[in-house]
Amino acid sequence: MTEQDKTPVSNFIAAIIAADIKANKNNGKVMTRFPPEPNGYLHIGHAKSICLNFGLAKDFNGHCNLRFDDTNPTKEEQEYIDSIMEDVRWLGFDWQDRLYFASGYFEKFYEFALFLIRKGKAYVDSLSADEIREYRGTLTQAGKESPHRHRGVEENLDLFERMKAGEFPDGTHVLRAKIDMASGNLNMRDPVLYRILHAGHHRTGNAWCIYPMYDFAHGQSDSIEGITHSVCTLEFADHRPLYDWFIEELELDCHPQQIEFARLNLTYTIMSKRKLVRLVAGGYVKSWDDPRMPTISGLRRRGYTPESIRDFCDRIGVAKKDSTVDMALLEHCLREDLNKRALRFMAVLKPLKVVLENYPEGQVEELQAINNPEDPDAGSRKVPFSKELYIEQDDFMEDPPKKFFRLGPGREVRLRYGYFITCTDVIKDDATGEILELRCTYDPETRGGNAPDGRKVKATLHWVSARHALSAEVRLYSRLFTKENPADVELGEDFADHINPESLEVLRNCRVEPSLADVEPEGICQFERLGYFCADRHDCTQEKLVFNRSVTLRDQWAKIKKKT
Ligand code: ATP
Ligand code: MG
Repeated sequence: MTEQDKTPVSNFIAAIIAADIKANKNNGKVMTRFPPEPNGYLHIGHAKSICLNFGLAKDFNGHCNLRFDDTNPTKEEQEYIDSIMEDVRWLGFDWQDRLYFASGYFEKFYEFALFLIRKGKAYVDSLSADEIREYRGTLTQAGKESPHRHRGVEENLDLFERMKAGEFPDGTHVLRAKIDMASGNLNMRDPVLYRILHAGHHRTGNAWCIYPMYDFAHGQSDSIEGITHSVCTLEFADHRPLYDWFIEELELDCHPQQIEFARLNLTYTIMSKRKLVRLVAGGYVKSWDDPRMPTISGLRRRGYTPESIRDFCDRIGVAKKDSTVDMALLEHCLREDLNKRALRFMAVLKPLKVVLENYPEGQVEELQAINNPEDPDAGSRKVPFSKELYIEQDDFMEDPPKKFFRLGPGREVRLRYGYFITCTDVIKDDATGEILELRCTYDPETRGGNAPDGRKVKATLHWVSARHALSAEVRLYSRLFTKENPADVELGEDFADHINPESLEVLRNCRVEPSLADVEPEGICQFERLGYFCADRHDCTQEKLVFNRSVTLRDQWAKIKKKT
């Protein structure tokens, strides 16, 4: 077997490429690209495209470019370019020195336009945008030719040059391809190639006041870069004949092969930059990297790892038909990854004080705790134990129902790595009845968590030593939307109507064990029984610990579904 025969053919696109290599198409070379428009931050759907394009290049010994398709100056910004580059790198991919911008080809596109005009394949149209739309016709009705369609080459050249020179206001003229106003494919009905836009561009400044349309830039950019396999999402299938027409009419040597795949949709979230920008601008979330956002930077801030996202992209595969993936799968991939790597700690989110009445005043014991039962190399640490502790409010009930096995008056439970304790008294606020603290006794014979007489307890609780614990803020997240497919809205509704008002819960009075004092921003950990957490990359400091819950230990939503 040759090296190439061994390349894993993991999806239908890889199969096409493998066959092309076998047939020595493109001299056996493979060149792909990831071509975002810098009009927003990348989301998890883009991660699928990034993994696919960079992955194909790697599997077939090719290269993958990063190219910004930046043809729309009014929607694009440097901030988006910077964030996109950061996200692609963070995901673990490297474009090396192959960073390109469609705006870097503006001069070439202009030459292409002149070439088409001279060939009689493009003309300047002076209809208004509304008229152009009206003349285009519909799926069932052929379009109508513009009265300007038969302008001569000289007149077109003159008008187009004057458009470029800035003689005309926005919207007065456009350059259109002369193809077929009766085509069954609306994209072929004399599409607009250039529009007048007196707007500064984030890279070319005020050099241009005419800008190419995305469709007149995308395919040619691929051709200029020698892209062999132009992988894109399904909605571009109808544009393929147009891209092919451009390459042929422009007589370009490199004719990339376009292959379409289904975009990723995820339940309970939206996946379009146009809508995500509204969540940010409308204040529904705090920022593009708000941990509730499906953006790559939001997932990162939430505590997702590049490994878990790449694993997710692997598992969902590449198909030719649109489908929606359950958010639970993404969470599952994160749990699998963190379970192997995250060190365990104890933290109490809603503290309830416990005083051990028979524990010696001033005594502190260092109890041995295992860092990660899944990883023998992770070792162990010491956790301080003393007379006053905190446990979770939820772990105590004054009048426990049948199925509640945790602490209650007169009951005995185990403290993880510590002792058996029994609740002897409940101290309450006289006025409100609120439980202030518990009085308990401990059994000194049960150190390490077992009773010499063999008696059993039904629950093991996590805890922290009151004197030693550190304060922390903990942010708990749940789904941003209450509807499974928030993009699918009824008439008169808006996707924003389905935002979950309880998607963020901030707990400011949490207590965590002292070994978390030096946690680095983005440090990941498991809080025993509570889930996986990460130190917030912007807000967590040595002075103020802030953790985000990345994911619960189990799929909480599955439980709820079963109940109902
Ligand atoms: P959006 O609608 O979110 O703005 P887009 O397609 O307009 O997405 P681009 O910046 O043009 O965003 O996308 C860059 C690349 O990522 C394109 O090749 C596009 O096909 C791909 N892509 C975008 N969204 C998804 C998705 N949900 N699943 C897979 N690939 C996607
Ligand atoms: Mg787009």
